[in-house]
Amino acid sequence: MITHQQIISWLQEEDSERLEELWSLADNVRREKVGNAVHLRGLIEISNRCQRQCAYCGLNVANTKLNRYTMSKEEILDCANRATQFKYGTVVIQAGETSTLSGEFIADVVRSIKAKSSLAVTLSLGERPDEELRLWREAGANRYLLRFETSNRELFRAIHPATGIHQRDRIEMLESLRTMGYEIGSGVMIGLPGQSYSDLARDIELFAKLDLDMIGVGPYIAQTDEAIGEMPPNLATDLQVPCTELMVYKVVALARLVCPEANIPSTTALATLNLATGRELGMSRGANVVMPNLTPRHFREHYEIYPNKACLRETADQCHACMARRIFSIGREPGTGPGGRRGRKGDILECH
Ligand code: SAH
Repeated sequence: MITHQQIISWLQEEDSERLEELWSLADNVRREKVGNAVHLRGLIEISNRCQRQCAYCGLNVANTKLNRYTMSKEEILDCANRATQFKYGTVVIQAGETSTLSGEFIADVVRSIKAKSSLAVTLSLGERPDEELRLWREAGANRYLLRFETSNRELFRAIHPATGIHQRDRIEMLESLRTMGYEIGSGVMIGLPGQSYSDLARDIELFAKLDLDMIGVGPYIAQTDEAIGEMPPNLATDLQVPCTELMVYKVVALARLVCPEANIPSTTALATLNLATGRELGMSRGANVVMPNLTPRHFREHYEIYPNKACLRETADQCHACMARRIFSIGREPGTGPGGRRGRKGDILECH
């Protein structure tokens, strides 16, 4: 097992030959444990409404410049149909935290998708009460994504004020989701102001402790509009984790080493730092998932979680073609089927 100190050493490694070793370690574990398939998860950003005040996030309620939208059931089901046409195994339903999306509305959407398709359904709707999570699980939802954002509790409280409708402890919520039979996904932002190397090493250790089925990480991308929220100051430079592309690859690779069987996406935030080859490098350094965006363009341009988000003005067709090209360009192949977590005892999925 890799130690705390070894994780920190990798995070601070600057020698490119040594880093080549890390990339090939991660790539070998990826190939051996989850194979060459790159699973496609079609992302549907169903609402940008949010009642919270997360200082890092552009959807936060203080952002009065955003045009707010919520998709109708029919619009969401149209996106799910596209997912089936594109042969994706999963749809990911994501939104801000808003009472506009009632527990019953989501349950109805999940039931309809499950009745009409063989798609796995992943939800990513923030902090919600157990009774809703149970309702959605009974409706057929398979997985839930909820990043804990940082394992440093003080930093988390500073960037994620305790306001909102269904506020709860994210780690406890993940454990609760697990007992309900969901596959659970989490992750962090890399290079948050005030995040130390030790914090980030603890984040990676927590991935292993929670035995995550899915791990999503990306760079923290600073808001340009000060009205959105005030972030903490940076630490002294030798302690502060930088929000660089290289640091993201290190965390992707280390996540693969500590959770060999997890599904790990090469994220849009990473592509935002390097549109030309970020996705491919993520996939070559531990990742085995991409999330092509299915959200119709007139909605997606308002789902601007951070400035200059990649693929904000593409169509679902363009995203689909682009991802397929990138996967084939590095000698990999698109996954088939739901692509659930491998090797979990008492597997709840392969998917109904
Ligand atoms: N409301 C849901 C979905 C949030 S959006 C929730 O809170 O879980 C999904 C992820 O985008 C967040 O978990 C966060 O890690 C990431 N994100 C938000 N703002 C960001 C920023 N400025 N830079 C990089 N990633 C960001």
